[in-house]
Amino acid sequence: MMRITCPICKKRTTLEENPWRPFCSKRCKLLDFGAWISGDYRIEGNEDEEEDERRDNEDI
Ligand SMILES: [Zn+2]
Repeated sequence: MMRITCPICKKRTTLEENPWRPFCSKRCKLLDFGAWISGDYRIEGNEDEEEDERRDNEDI
């Protein structure tokens, strides 16, 4: 088994039979995806984040 470390939570997982690789779970994959979209890890600024999302939707 090829062992890897989840880049989000640092939990040990395996590459084989892991649909969320290189992450350990769907949750970590989505967390990384969200951070990627916003350009940074901005989990602390909840109010700003909600505002940005609303503005994006209006533009589209
Ligand atoms: Zn993880």
